Amino acid sequence: MSTQAPTNAHVSRPTGRAPKFDVAVVGAGPAGLAAAAAAADNGARVAVIDSAEQPGGQYWRHRSEAAGAPEAGEFHHGWKQYLGLRARFDAGLADGRITFFPSTSVWMARALSHSDVFALELAPAHGGGQSRVPSIRAASLVLATGGYDRQLPVPGWQLPGVMAAGGIQAFVKQNGMLPGSRFVIAGTGPFLLPVAANITQAGGAVAAVLESASLAGWLPRAHRAAGVPAKAIEGAGYVATFLKHQIPYRVRTVITEILGTDCVTGVRTARVRSTGEAIPGSERELTGIDGVGLGWGFTPQLELPIQLGVETRVDVDGSLVGIVDETGLSSVPGLYLAGEITGVGGAPLSVLEGEIAGRSAAVETLGTRRAKAAGHTATPGHGSSTALDAVTGAERRALARHRGFAEAMHLAHPVPAGWADRLTPETTVCRCEEVSYGELDHAHGELAAEDLRTEKGLTRAGMGWCQGRVCGFAVSCLSAGAGRVGADAVPVPAAAAQSLAQSAKRPVAQPLPLSALRDLED
Ligand SMILES: Cc1cc2nc3c(=O)[nH]c(=O)nc-3n(C[C@H](O)[C@H](O)[C@H](O)COP(=O)(O)OP(=O)(O)OC[C@H]3O[C@@H](n4cnc5c(N)ncnc54)[C@H](O)[C@@H]3O)c2cc1C
Repeated sequence: MSTQAPTNAHVSRPTGRAPKFDVAVVGAGPAGLAAAAAAADNGARVAVIDSAEQPGGQYWRHRSEAAGAPEAGEFHHGWKQYLGLRARFDAGLADGRITFFPSTSVWMARALSHSDVFALELAPAHGGGQSRVPSIRAASLVLATGGYDRQLPVPGWQLPGVMAAGGIQAFVKQNGMLPGSRFVIAGTGPFLLPVAANITQAGGAVAAVLESASLAGWLPRAHRAAGVPAKAIEGAGYVATFLKHQIPYRVRTVITEILGTDCVTGVRTARVRSTGEAIPGSERELTGIDGVGLGWGFTPQLELPIQLGVETRVDVDGSLVGIVDETGLSSVPGLYLAGEITGVGGAPLSVLEGEIAGRSAAVETLGTRRAKAAGHTATPGHGSSTALDAVTGAERRALARHRGFAEAMHLAHPVPAGWADRLTPETTVCRCEEVSYGELDHAHGELAAEDLRTEKGLTRAGMGWCQGRVCGFAVSCLSAGAGRVGADAVPVPAAAAQSLAQSAKRPVAQPLPLSALRDLED
């Protein structure tokens, strides 16, 4: 099922003094770094914009280079691959093929129909003031904006000490220290494993890792896991760490309540059936906890693709993702997508997609320019045979293997049934606007709120500072009647596509200082 989101593309505005590039890449994570390096290696002049201070994204987030903090990659997998990409990126910076805008957010993107270019509006990622360059133009655009942790509410999750599992991971990678000392990590998916491993590596303790799925879900898909042996090797490393630090790994187990008054002190847990009901007598309490990490997969960051009107679909994990062809080209000419926003599949897949999208964007843009110079008519970014031909057989096979693994992972670690039944009327679902489950349930049951937008209008859920980035998925599920024992854990794709697109549609993609608006050219 695909949905064409409303768009503000094709708005005509003067191009003014904005610097022009062949290719602009938004995001300098695994996908964006690879895209930038590939585009530059193929002769394009490239702009790279990232809200973070240094390249690396979420996977290779590391200590501050500006502060001279030493980084040996001890918390990272694939650090050698990062150093290789970084060397290509730095070479591009050194000889002017790449221009990097760090600590800078793209808060709006438009396709300018009168000049066949994309316009990106930039603002400082932190604090006030203006970006050194408030706006840029590019003939092709690669969006590699990644994602963030998908969250589900649980009673007590607003207590200090409760974080997204990825938040703990980011904290450790960036600071080399921990936001607590004794943790419980809960949710679903292999991502819980590196979080627990890095906690022990940084000197913390992990009282338990609680996985809501049963690992039997891998059995019918074992061949897909075998297709990516590096993942099995990584998994074996976690088994060794768990044994060494005696970390209990409990399957089919969920947190039913997070305990504490001023901050987290413990959790209540229960074993659950595949249908979602708690197994009577399986309840237990873990105390002496000061950190809880929750992770239910990732939510792709789709504001910019949706601003530009790309077609989307609901992936097997229930996430809304951008539709692309083999070269990474979206439904919008000249606009490529790479990494988590085309489907959550991990860093190696993101690098591969970035490499292909960056190269395709450069090949298309420079080819179009040469064709125009020779007097031929050509429109950029329509997925020409040149770009398709540049995708090698080895890349096609690697894409298929990694995507197969990702699909197997999502099917083996689904959002669990019955999560909504564990909420109480007082459980906060939208933390920014402090909207409780009771209010949402009332709007759904009594006022016929059956999609996120109606819930938002009636309850203010998703209207606060984070604009539904944290609660959007849960509110979409609740408004569609999903998440209960006996119901689907997530809404059926058609309803989900509509509801999630509403949640991802934000006219301002990132928070921005008012001074950035003052700088607009018209
Ligand atoms: C917090 C967190 C921690 C993670 N840790 C691990 C881990 O330890 N192990 C693991 O296997 N996987 C981990 N993952 C998953 C892993 O990060 C992804 O598989 C991988 O990084 C995806 O690469 P990407 O390039 O698509 O996106 P990302 O690495 O997420 O990079 C996206 C980049 O885009 C930038 N960006 C987004 N929007 C804008 C904008 N509007 N303007 C400017 N810049 C923008 C962001 O600052 C970011 O640097 C983590 C994910 C998260 C969210």
